Amino acid sequence: MANVPQNALLGLSRSELASLVEEWGEPSYRTSQLLEAVYRQRVESVEQISTLPLSLRAKLVELGVCVGLPGIEKRFVSLDGTVRYLIAFADGQSVETVWMPEGDGGEAGDGTEAGDSASSADGDRPHLVGGQNRGWDRATICVSSQVGCAVDCQFCLTALLGVKRNLTAGEIAGQVCAVLKDQKVSPPQDRINLVFMGMGEPFLNYENFMKAVRLLVEEVGVAEPRMTVSTAGIVPRIHDFGQEAVRPKLAISLNASNDAARTQLMPLNRKWDLEKLMAAAREFPLRNRERITFEYVLLDGVNDSAENAREVAELLRGMRAKVNLIALNPGPGIQFSTPAEVRVAAFQQVLMEAGIPAFVRRPRGRDIFAACGQLKRTVEIATAPAV
Ligand code: SF4
Repeated sequence: MANVPQNALLGLSRSELASLVEEWGEPSYRTSQLLEAVYRQRVESVEQISTLPLSLRAKLVELGVCVGLPGIEKRFVSLDGTVRYLIAFADGQSVETVWMPEGDGGEAGDGTEAGDSASSADGDRPHLVGGQNRGWDRATICVSSQVGCAVDCQFCLTALLGVKRNLTAGEIAGQVCAVLKDQKVSPPQDRINLVFMGMGEPFLNYENFMKAVRLLVEEVGVAEPRMTVSTAGIVPRIHDFGQEAVRPKLAISLNASNDAARTQLMPLNRKWDLEKLMAAAREFPLRNRERITFEYVLLDGVNDSAENAREVAELLRGMRAKVNLIALNPGPGIQFSTPAEVRVAAFQQVLMEAGIPAFVRRPRGRDIFAACGQLKRTVEIATAPAV
């Protein structure tokens, strides 16, 4: 399994850290100092924790304690401002984390109703410090939960990697910390959304994912309603997720309108078919004004007909749901093609006429392989500068 640093501070909860502080024979207020340094100041080494006396810093170094902030190995900067980060962990494995100024166009359901609009679910908050300086007023970070993915969706580049390992809670939260540090922004002052839609299936790494969520809310300062997790449809975990006291919003990657098509595109549909998936979605305890997002990647001539749209409308009838439509983001090794805009618009129209809010999501960072389903640790890109 993972060779993550044994004594990393990043990934520890307040209570875990409090026990360590006690073990070290230190006063309890050191816990808050350490949390502040690791999660809010995002220091890179124990030596940098200036609130601790030098003697304690030296003692921690001697004990082999480290911060565990993952390193940024490469940055690919898109023409549209999206940055795809290759983030490396202690054992040499890496994942991708994507920074999208101005949100993700709602492509991944970042919490905005209309992706391009600045008025998000939180209403008209003032523009924020980082944004004022940079020309954006909100940003979304797309976070990975596993190295690779085992789910094998046929239209997804990540699937080609297979799954290498789960990320720890520290590595999931650490991606966010590394990107916040690099972009010089801090929630909640800066309006940052998180989508757990990067590499991997978060619900197949459920405990670590949920621990990371709690760390991000309680210690990093990201508000719960600003987070969305997407699952390919791990039904038992959807039930568990509904019972969590602290949880992001739920998105379900649907991508097909009937079982035959879905099983072909997403083999996990054999285990959890549409009947089971939709039952779990219908039972999911939604909060006030919350909707479940259904993501639907449109593949030319495969799942994008008006008949498919009518079947989707039937599946979602009566639910508090919305649909994000994403025209396939192409990639090498993917056998499908991107539908024409008129087909996408026609699909949307059928859903809207059935009373289902449906949004066409503009892709972000396609030129640097940062868009949905394109995360494959692609390092060689002719057009994009790696910084
Ligand atoms: S779409 Fe998501 S769940 Fe499916 S293979 Fe890709 S990363 Fe895994």
